Amino acid sequence: MLIDLHTHSFVSDGTESPGDLMRSAAKAGLDIVALTDHDQTSGWDEAAQTALETGLGFVPGIEISCRTDNHISVHLLAYLHDPLNEELLAEINRARQDRITRAQRIVDLLSEDFPITWDLVQKHSHPDATIGRPHIADALVTAGVVDNRSEAFERILVPGSKYYVGHYAADPVVAVELVKRANGVPVFAHPLAAARGRVVKDHVFHDMIDAGLAGLEVFHRDNPPQAQRKLLELAQQENLIVTGSSDYHGAGKPNRLGENSTSRDQLERILELGTGSHSVGIN
Ligand code: AMP
Ligand code: FE
Ligand code: FE
Ligand code: ZN
Repeated sequence: MLIDLHTHSFVSDGTESPGDLMRSAAKAGLDIVALTDHDQTSGWDEAAQTALETGLGFVPGIEISCRTDNHISVHLLAYLHDPLNEELLAEINRARQDRITRAQRIVDLLSEDFPITWDLVQKHSHPDATIGRPHIADALVTAGVVDNRSEAFERILVPGSKYYVGHYAADPVVAVELVKRANGVPVFAHPLAAARGRVVKDHVFHDMIDAGLAGLEVFHRDNPPQAQRKLLELAQQENLIVTGSSDYHGAGKPNRLGENSTSRDQLERILELGTGSHSVGIN
């Protein structure tokens, strides 16, 4: 049984519609898929509907952008939370709103040197997508400035570049508490992904665990082997759920569906804990 609990559609920075993503997953031989768009749950209905049509199991999820007080980026996956929970929704919407302001500022800075406009960025994003650097990267590709998203990230959109601007993001401990209160299951995404930038110190793990963190995404291409061993040890010590996933973004990233996966017994723990919304087609 192949279970992939971390994927993105074009309602965030993936390149496929939620329905197409589920069809791709069925073709790739997956059995159960979670849709975890950045700061956005508007893809759930279409994904659930397509799961029913294709015989796939579907787990509703989200990936919440967070940042520690010393500015380290943390991504928190949440499964089966109540998407209408007001406190959580307010926090997510604050990040989504600030992402727009921030993207416009990045475009302003870029437009001094490159033929980039806000219009062009909007052409590369779905109307209710969570706007991020990948959409700006796509505009840079269209403008002929770079060949692909990866090159845009490496050369232009990286933190420290004169074009980089950050956005508001919740504290990870607060986000864990909010997900719990929305009856969801919080799982730390790619926790030791050193290539993405600085990673958190041990005490942040423990603060998040004290707040109710339920699991660690251990098997992810951005966690180096040594880091995966450390995460497995921590999961065992703290009785945390262990997940593995692709972090598929369609054509936006090399990650392929099912390249990492979660075991059925670990999924069962998630399904038991998450009561804010419903999975589809899992028996
Ligand atoms: P943002 O959320 O706007 O800060 O942009 C971060 C997003 O960019 C992440 O969710 C990744 O999916 C994506 N990303 C980061 N690095 C790369 C890369 N090298 N190539 C393609 N996408 C990337
Ligand atoms: Fe992404
Ligand atoms: Fe992430
Ligand atoms: Zn992701």
